[in-house]
Amino acid sequence: MMVAPSQPTLRGELRLDESLQRYNTWRIGGPARQMYLPADVEDLATFLRTLPADEPLLWLGLGSNLLIRDGGFGGTVILLQGRLNDMRIDDGSVYAEAGVACAKVARECARADLSGAAFLAGIPGTIGGALAMNAGAFGGETWRIVTMATTIDRRGRIRERRADEYQVAYREVRCPAEEWFLACTLRLEQGDGAAEQAAIRALLDHRAQTQPTGQASCGSTFRNPPGDHAARLIEASGLKGCRLGGAEVSTKHANFIINTGSASAADVENLISHVRAEVQRCQGVALQTEVHMVGERS
Ligand SMILES: Cc1cc2nc3c(=O)[nH]c(=O)nc-3n(C[C@H](O)[C@H](O)[C@H](O)COP(=O)(O)OP(=O)(O)OC[C@H]3O[C@@H](n4cnc5c(N)ncnc54)[C@H](O)[C@@H]3O)c2cc1C
Repeated sequence: MMVAPSQPTLRGELRLDESLQRYNTWRIGGPARQMYLPADVEDLATFLRTLPADEPLLWLGLGSNLLIRDGGFGGTVILLQGRLNDMRIDDGSVYAEAGVACAKVARECARADLSGAAFLAGIPGTIGGALAMNAGAFGGETWRIVTMATTIDRRGRIRERRADEYQVAYREVRCPAEEWFLACTLRLEQGDGAAEQAAIRALLDHRAQTQPTGQASCGSTFRNPPGDHAARLIEASGLKGCRLGGAEVSTKHANFIINTGSASAADVENLISHVRAEVQRCQGVALQTEVHMVGERS
């Protein structure tokens, strides 16, 4: 008698044809063919092993650095926000899973009298996204405080890697191909919690004054070129307030592109191309996008 191989038991949630609009801070883009919300790391590893070897994968944190095109993503989105959410602090060593919000890490570290993570307070992403982007602000940068990263590959194999195994640059991290972040360990100095909390408040106040924080955007659209600021170049090219469809160059911070309410991903992408062409023409500088663009055009 033949015995059929048993199916792995999955404890996460699989959603089909899921709109991605509510999973990114621009609030735009088409659906994912399927989305998996893992119950935990072990469940995620089991799920990955069920996928075909060539399944397109998109790892999604809080979608604060992603332009998802209007045709959506014809593969599997792995959603980590609110899922891999464990965080522990032990004697200056901080362990955070990839789905933990950066703001929570900043807050909890300050509460534990640790210094060096305040810069994470205003970054509206997950720790997984911060590791992938080498997110930074106000002189702080993610990989300067990372000591170890835990990763997973598409066969569900989990590895512990030292920070010096990665090539890290401004808003860029070279990772081994087809490995994604599950967690990291940060090393922080002992500090003064009250001073850290005051620093967090000052950083958030500064953002509120200089950035359109209440509007749908993905933060800085372009990387700063060496020795200059993308916002200065865009403003000097007369592009503040420039509008295409429902997408607009912010009048408050020229490196932010705002969804004024009805923008499509195509509006945003076309505005990005227009800004890049105008800055090249007026300033002779080729801007590079910081935002990642994924999915298909409709
Ligand atoms: C108002 C505003 C202000 C911002 N300010 C800053 C700032 O000061 N400094 C700064 O650096 N950024 C800033 N950003 C951009 C953004 O918040 C950061 O890039 C952040 O690190 C992205 O995290 P996320 O979880 O949203 O990633 P997502 O946008 O979900 O993903 C970004 C990229 O990382 C990949 N990724 C996500 N999770 C993982 C994972 N677990 N493993 C492997 N790859 C993964 C995704 O596939 C994608 O390519 C800002 C954005 C906004 C909207």
